[in-house]
Amino acid sequence: MKPVIALIGRPNVGKSTLFNRLTRSRDALVADLPGLTRDRHYGEGRVGERPFLVIDTGGFEPVAKEGIMHEMAKQTKQAVAEADVVIFIVDGRQGLTPHDKTITDFLRKSGRSVMLVVNKAEGMKYTTVTADFYELGMGDPYVISAAHGDGVNDLVEEALNIAFAQRPPEEETPASNDRSIKLAIVGRPNVGKSTLVNTLLGEERVIAFDLPGTTRDSIEIPFERDGKHYTLIDTAGIRRRGKVFEAIEKFSVVKTLQSISEANVVLLLLDAQQDISEQDAHIAGFILESGRALVVGVNKWDGLTSDRRDEIKMDLERKLSFLSFAKTHFVSALKSSGIGPMMKSVDGAYAAAMSNLSTPKLTRALIEAVEHQQPRRKGSIRPKLRYAHQGGMNPPIVVIHGNALEAIDANYKRFLEKHFRETFSLVGTPLRIELRSGK
Ligand code: GDP
Ligand code: GDP
Repeated sequence: MKPVIALIGRPNVGKSTLFNRLTRSRDALVADLPGLTRDRHYGEGRVGERPFLVIDTGGFEPVAKEGIMHEMAKQTKQAVAEADVVIFIVDGRQGLTPHDKTITDFLRKSGRSVMLVVNKAEGMKYTTVTADFYELGMGDPYVISAAHGDGVNDLVEEALNIAFAQRPPEEETPASNDRSIKLAIVGRPNVGKSTLVNTLLGEERVIAFDLPGTTRDSIEIPFERDGKHYTLIDTAGIRRRGKVFEAIEKFSVVKTLQSISEANVVLLLLDAQQDISEQDAHIAGFILESGRALVVGVNKWDGLTSDRRDEIKMDLERKLSFLSFAKTHFVSALKSSGIGPMMKSVDGAYAAAMSNLSTPKLTRALIEAVEHQQPRRKGSIRPKLRYAHQGGMNPPIVVIHGNALEAIDANYKRFLEKHFRETFSLVGTPLRIELRSGK
């Protein structure tokens, strides 16, 4: 599972600046999709080959008893509880403040691994910028400049080393069928996730029901349905209680993100009795960003008036139009209706995500696309698209080679995506286009 790093510190020390630096490359991927709401406080970063999750916690006022500051403190506490490593940021230009001490006390009680980081250190001597902070009793501080990037890579490398070192050795997860489809069911509390899990597991023989949880409560449940093998992975917000699965109290973004990143296919469950909320859109945004295959299930379809059904369909089109690459099913987990076709779409989305696209076929499709519509000139330069090959699966990545490709705009990229999607019938999976220019 991806290590989780939380950024903690009082307002204005540079948390968001560091967050943006750590997650920047990811932002660019989805920045131009209309209608996509994203939760700026959670993101994915990568150093080298190592991915991690990062949480930006906003300002922290541990003393506030109520109001917005109290809410923020609550969220900060949850972030600390869910983190493997806390990066505690202080301001090297301002020096030590009483507030920093309060935060130190809180972090010490949390029992988490904490790295003390002095930010805004560009152009300053280590001894000068750190002198104040030894008083916190956290040893030699790390120094960085979040704005300029100095020291940031080393800091994250070290954070990840700490995270991995303190993990319990991975338990051997009983090898589920290797070719099983890893499926995550996500959605906000009360949409019907546990009901659906129970329906899925109850209908068919469950191969192994009671697997021990591994690190951080991760669970993997292999099951079989209509002769197909699936592995349900750490379904966010659902825990086994007695004989059935029940929702746990609190919605956890971190667990949702972890589940999504371990899945091949994500089933996003929505509640037809409620309007689509910000939280639904946030989760949808995370799925899109992850590149995982997707099926949308609109649950609690039983007993709705036809007016309400029309209403929710319009709501979907309005608020989640950016998921139009995925199939939507109207189902009832409780009455077990519509589940079969929905699982067929899961299979289809998986097959699309794992497609093998040969270089000749991709190149032919590319040429067709260009014949249909040329990329626009930029000044006197016309981008030249030469050939394409596949650069990855789940999501499929189409790498296009040519000249002056940096002149290609987002619209044309979307046109290409649509063309490849239609040519290869890629329903249910995001598709990424990468452009590589020769000189
Ligand atoms: P947050 O409230 O902790 O999220 O802090 P922000 O990231 O919003 O940063 C607060 C201010 O500090 C902004 O004006 C930033 O431009 C500035 N800042 C952040 N990092 C650095 C840095 O490394 N050096 C300098 N000089 N300023 C920085
Ligand atoms: P979770 O928090 O997403 O795991 O949601 P639960 O599975 O605990 O379901 C929340 C509530 O919605 C429970 O009272 C369920 O009985 C109810 N529910 C779940 N699925 C359906 C459905 O298909 N139709 C109706 N009418 N209610 C449902």
